[in-house]
Amino acid sequence: MAGNKTFTMIKPDAVADGNTGAIIKMIEEAGFRIVAMKKTRLTEERAGQFYEVHKERGFYQDLVRYMSSGAIVPMILEKENAVADFRKLIGATNPANAEEGTIRKKFAKSIEANAIHGSDSDENAEIEGNFFFSRVEKF
Ligand code: GDP
Repeated sequence: MAGNKTFTMIKPDAVADGNTGAIIKMIEEAGFRIVAMKKTRLTEERAGQFYEVHKERGFYQDLVRYMSSGAIVPMILEKENAVADFRKLIGATNPANAEEGTIRKKFAKSIEANAIHGSDSDENAEIEGNFFFSRVEKF
């Protein structure tokens, strides 16, 4: 059965461009409730841990550098069928392939600086949420 939580973060390009509020508005208008949220910044080491699954990929070092280059806004979100519905709302990894009306179509600059993250499974949503938030920060 699909869970009702997912994890997201607004990435450094979108935060630096002043798109945080507009992105949160799209998320809330799509029916997601914000369970936890903060503004923070990853060190290269922490960014490397978060994206450890991509360690063998050619773009890993660039990704780690980019994700630690500025502030991010991680959030835990709640909605029925959260993971799949949120992936639909953000659109394809490469904004060139993202559908109209998606967050990446509107705000992403490139396949790397693509404005927003969305967990790809219930299991990863749990792991990624716990990476940023302790139990008492979630309500
Ligand atoms: P996602 O689930 O849509 O975020 O995509 P992936 O899990 O495949 O990739 C994780 C993140 O790595 C993406 O959101 C991009 O920021 C970055 N990324 C993915 N593919 C590429 C690529 O080919 N080149 C570069 N530079 N970054 C990439």
